[in-house]
Amino acid sequence: MAIDSSLAEMHWKHDLLGSIEVGIVVLDRNYNVKVWNQFMENHSSIVPGMIQDKSLFEFFPEIDERWFTRKAQPAFTLKSPVFIIWEQRPYLFRFDCNRPITSQSEYMFQNITIFPLASLTGQVEQICLVIYDVTDEAMGRLRIESLNKQLEKMSRTDGLTGLYNRQYWEEQLVMEYARDKRTEVPSALVMLDLDHFKHINDTYGHPAGDSVIKSFANVIRKATRGTDLVGRYGGEEFAIILPDTPVENVEFVAQRIRRFAEKKPVIHGDIEISYTVSVGIAGFNESYKSYTEWLAAADNALYQAKESGRNKVVIAE
Ligand code: GH3
Ligand code: MG
Ligand code: MG
Repeated sequence: MAIDSSLAEMHWKHDLLGSIEVGIVVLDRNYNVKVWNQFMENHSSIVPGMIQDKSLFEFFPEIDERWFTRKAQPAFTLKSPVFIIWEQRPYLFRFDCNRPITSQSEYMFQNITIFPLASLTGQVEQICLVIYDVTDEAMGRLRIESLNKQLEKMSRTDGLTGLYNRQYWEEQLVMEYARDKRTEVPSALVMLDLDHFKHINDTYGHPAGDSVIKSFANVIRKATRGTDLVGRYGGEEFAIILPDTPVENVEFVAQRIRRFAEKKPVIHGDIEISYTVSVGIAGFNESYKSYTEWLAAADNALYQAKESGRNKVVIAE
């Protein structure tokens, strides 16, 4: 009778281990496998008979032995549970994803709990790993993070040109102004406005005007460095922050942009559109009481460029 009931108990425990939707692995102090449930068999194609009493690391070279033994140690020594979440390491066992069609993931994301199995004497000779498939949760989170990044990028970008939009550009100016107040490095501000743009729109139409704006944005992009901050300030107005750049160098860049615009007409369909640009430059000056004064100085220089005949570069006094 006693044998019967313990056999029956073994039987239902075996069934239980087999039917639950988590991985169960029991390891001894040498990290040899003692229990390997159906979930583990299904995902690894390793049957318990193959791995029983063998080292876990022999079968799973993807597990970093040093890292894992150090991680699992507290379960043996402090008798306390250990948690490994997918944000730390996406997985312990490199299993294929269960739902290759509905999920974009190549592998199963896993959360792992390791807890001590104490013997009757209170000694911990074995630990139990519980492996949870958290692929759906992880993919959901990663998708939201990636969407947030896209949104963040969109919120600072001008749709037509791909340059920074005015709001973001101005935020950068505020920061540059604060930085320049603290440091001695020279920086400069450049404002650019296309000349007689109303005439371009009136002559060739609004879509053609858009082509000129886009094409001019590329001219600025090519003439500036990755560290320069280029924004579309308004309709056909652009602004550049050049950090750590002396005014002479800024003038060189501005002249290059001006000449390029003058020389290279924009091709829109089968028409060629010639255009020019006026530019105002203001280097950072200690006397500015706010960033708006700096902006006004550059805008004023731009106004002088317009007044003195357009297609010119003027540096603020
Ligand atoms: P100025 O040389 O004095 O700058 O003359 P302007 O004709 O360029 O004058 P202003 O800068 O005041 O006019 C800008 C014009 O640009 C007015 C507006 O119709 C046009 N514009 C503004 N935004 C856009 C845009 O996104 N696309 C197009 N095609 N035109 C725009
Ligand atoms: Mg204009
Ligand atoms: Mg304008």
